[in-house]
Amino acid sequence: MRTLVVALTLCLAAAATPALAGEVALTFDDLPTMALSPNTDYAQVTTKDLLAGLKRHHFPAIGFVNEVKLEARDKPDRIALLKAWLDAGMDLGNHTYDHPHFTTDAAAEIAETQKGEMVTRALLAERRRSPHWFRHPFLETGATDAARKTFEDWLTAHGYRVAPVSMENSDWMFAMPYDQAVLKGDTAEAARIQKAYLDFTAQIVPWYIAAAQGVLGREPKFVFLLHATRLNAESLDGLAAILKANDLKPVTLARAMTDPAYAMAEDAVGANGNQWVTRWSMTLNKPMPWATLPKPPADIEAIDDQLEGAVGPPAAPAKPRA
Ligand SMILES: [Zn+2]
Repeated sequence: MRTLVVALTLCLAAAATPALAGEVALTFDDLPTMALSPNTDYAQVTTKDLLAGLKRHHFPAIGFVNEVKLEARDKPDRIALLKAWLDAGMDLGNHTYDHPHFTTDAAAEIAETQKGEMVTRALLAERRRSPHWFRHPFLETGATDAARKTFEDWLTAHGYRVAPVSMENSDWMFAMPYDQAVLKGDTAEAARIQKAYLDFTAQIVPWYIAAAQGVLGREPKFVFLLHATRLNAESLDGLAAILKANDLKPVTLARAMTDPAYAMAEDAVGANGNQWVTRWSMTLNKPMPWATLPKPPADIEAIDDQLEGAVGPPAAPAKPRA
């Protein structure tokens, strides 16, 4: 009897103690939206669905804004999309005005950052808050050591903190092919792309966990780079299932940034910046498991390349694109 009581007590104690959960901050770049045809209808549907999905799952998130995307005849409607993020309890950060490459001196990057906070600062001020998080476009942290230092000193002096990236799923590559399928009304193709996207995400999330464990000797709190796209808005349940399967609980960016790994020195400069797991691997001189890196499907990449060529942005770099 006593053995049974002890066994029962141990069972109850085990059930009452939550499993050690991993943590991840969800960050969405290129607000109001990254889209093939960035009209306001698309943006309204995407924003509404994305925020509804995040709220349904009780996931905190932050959106990083490119205020150039507000410049249109319907500017008030576009600003309302940013307000919707704050009304939904999410945070907003600065992703520069026009998403430039950090290939020049710090002065240009500072000007872009100042220009990029005009609307966001006012919206946050209405809530007695101010912009705090900055995400580098293309994860480019500086053209040179000197430019990096000057810019980071400016960020600190102006209340900003850099939002790193330690997990990504090349969502941008799937997003425009998905938009095209939706615009054409080709639901079978949209479903095929969405499945490919979620299959790829299900492979690369555990890859990042294993890579970070190999580099740090433990699992850090992750910061996941995503984009404000219709694909993500319509894939929230699938993404949530993948996070759950990997024992990752969404937390605020501030919470993820309490992980000491983000305080580790790293000095990356140059074009098309690395995500932070690679930066840690360079600082600690530990290898990254590149041989097992999952690759997005070649046909999706081909459609994306074709669409990028058609709409004009620069060719996609091989590294994560913020
Ligand atoms: Zn971006």
